[in-house]
Amino acid sequence: MLKVVYSPVFLEHKPPFPHPERPERLEIAVKALKKSGLEFKFTEPKPAQKQDLYRAHDPTYVDKIERYVETGMAMLDSDTYLSPGTLRSALTAAGAALDAAEALKGDCTLLALSRPPGHHAGKRGAAMGALTQGFCIFNNVAVAAARLFELGLKRVAVIDFDAHHGNGTQEIFYSDPKLLHVDIHEDPVSLYPGTGFPTELGDGEGEGTKVNMVLPPGGGDDVYALALEEVVVPLVEEFKPEALLFSAGFDAYKADGLTHLQATEWTFARIGSIARRLTEGKTAVFLEGGYSLGLENGLPAFASALCGLEMEYPLTKSPEPVFNMAKNYVYELKALLKKYWKL
Ligand SMILES: [Zn+2]
Repeated sequence: MLKVVYSPVFLEHKPPFPHPERPERLEIAVKALKKSGLEFKFTEPKPAQKQDLYRAHDPTYVDKIERYVETGMAMLDSDTYLSPGTLRSALTAAGAALDAAEALKGDCTLLALSRPPGHHAGKRGAAMGALTQGFCIFNNVAVAAARLFELGLKRVAVIDFDAHHGNGTQEIFYSDPKLLHVDIHEDPVSLYPGTGFPTELGDGEGEGTKVNMVLPPGGGDDVYALALEEVVVPLVEEFKPEALLFSAGFDAYKADGLTHLQATEWTFARIGSIARRLTEGKTAVFLEGGYSLGLENGLPAFASALCGLEMEYPLTKSPEPVFNMAKNYVYELKALLKKYWKL
């Protein structure tokens, strides 16, 4: 049975004007999951303490968010809004991450339907030179990974399949060899945040453990199939993580709204079934992006496969030049990774 972590507090982070990252996203997600016929157990997290965030964020950044919310500031940057309920929502989303870390000690598949999302939030806010925080406040997956390390784990892998690069997660763990971060995203040349190139491989002891699988705009399910089988699965198998976390964004879904990728149910079901295969159903998944159709169709396909329900979906093919470009990207990335991995 899938454990879904959810709280009405997540709805209290409200935009001051129409915005894609809105509370209704979670209503779409919950409705889609209920409609899928899967069995769930809903649990409600407690808010994290500010100190819990210091494992991933600089205390001055956490204090800044608290101060800005208290003073009624409406915009953190041109993409990322604040509202009176933002701090409580963001602390509760981080609380869900702490629950996930605890739950992973047992035998559990956990899906955190939390918001605000987190993977663009770096140590001190905007990460790696990004102009904004891309709707994110605290980095939930990073809080979970950092807690797992504190609990004694030596190898944690994060697979980020949101269509945007998880620049915050990359920045926080850039020199940490204990964390393998594999990020599949649309070419940063055409999409926010403008980082996540294959040459960003980590530094110091962490060199080789940060992996950026770029997909060309217009890429569909066949491009994902290639990236998953050629790069993601072999790396995770070789790394042998003690815990596998997902930054789960559904904005690569065709016509979800914010990206140029064309994934369908096939891709998300394949990722779900890979997650199940790699972890024997012991994994924690954190919601990142996904704004409309991705949540409605991609999320239930992913969750069903994660629970072992194998459904048949048609695989969409990319235009030939796009597929060829993806093949080149895979080839180039593997050439870079050969220094560190058997592949
Ligand atoms: Zn995204």
